[in-house]
Amino acid sequence: MSKRAKVLIVDDDPINRLVLEKTLKGEHDVFLVESGEKALTFVKTAQVDLIILDVIMPGIDGYQVLVELKENPITQSIPIIFISANSSHDDEAKGLELGAMDYITKPFSPSIVRVRVRNQLLIKQKNDLLEMLASIDGLTEIPNRRYLDENLSREWRRSKRNGTPLSVLLMDIDHFKRYNDCYGHRAGDECLKDVAQALAAQCERGSDFIARYGGEEFAAVLPGMDKHEAMEFANKLRNAVNALNIEHKASLNADHITISIGIATTQMGRVYAEQALLEEADLGLYAAKDAGRDRIVAR
Ligand code: GH3
Ligand code: MG
Ligand code: MG
Repeated sequence: MSKRAKVLIVDDDPINRLVLEKTLKGEHDVFLVESGEKALTFVKTAQVDLIILDVIMPGIDGYQVLVELKENPITQSIPIIFISANSSHDDEAKGLELGAMDYITKPFSPSIVRVRVRNQLLIKQKNDLLEMLASIDGLTEIPNRRYLDENLSREWRRSKRNGTPLSVLLMDIDHFKRYNDCYGHRAGDECLKDVAQALAAQCERGSDFIARYGGEEFAAVLPGMDKHEAMEFANKLRNAVNALNIEHKASLNADHITISIGIATTQMGRVYAEQALLEEADLGLYAAKDAGRDRIVAR
């Protein structure tokens, strides 16, 4: 582990808390709470990498805490290790079936607890890495189509629920086939990377993102932006690509690489279905191409 992990220990027995703390504090940052209620509050304010959870506690018991953590998207992937004086196979099976990663029975051996915690943290780290790699486009290193689909869906539902605007931009490099034909596919790849990075660099708010939609097309998802703001943002993107000033002798609309952009916005009284939002942006993009490229059309 490169950096110290944050491990939360939840146990109503003060002696157990102390022993577990002593067992783990050499390797990890350890936090202690004495009830299920406090554990649920703690994870709301602090990021936790792993939880060691006592099963039998007054108030909310360990099983219930686990169920609540699994229901919340923010906490559902925190690995949980149960620790319990219940040593029957049924208890252990129940804990594992509910989604605990491991089950330790009391009295426990400190060296075994240390190894089991280390193992779960390593598995979590690898899962996070896989998850991240599966969402990143290999060539441009920006989010890919899979990431776009998942997050657009979430933002679309949020916008519908809260009645807040949501803008989507579709962008396409102008005359890119001619660029490949003129400079070669390798140069085309380099150009795609530079354009992607220039676009991504314009996203200043944490909620905005730009993904590779496919080929030489990109999409921006802009939660909370109305049509006017989306137009301003699209201008920034268009300017950023122009400023790269990548020579494109074969282009029919400029002497350098340019992009065309279509904008769609869901706004009061005009809530597109999720897929229709992309379709509208696509219509805008085609109108921009038709009108001469290197321009923006909002629907
Ligand atoms: P328009 O202005 O109408 O968009 O013209 P265009 O030539 O950009 O559009 P078209 O859809 O005809 O061609 C897109 C080209 O993008 C064709 C394809 O070879 C190229 N392309 C798609 N993905 C990649 C890639 O990963 N690397 C490279 N080098 N080229 C790619
Ligand atoms: Mg295209
Ligand atoms: Mg194109």
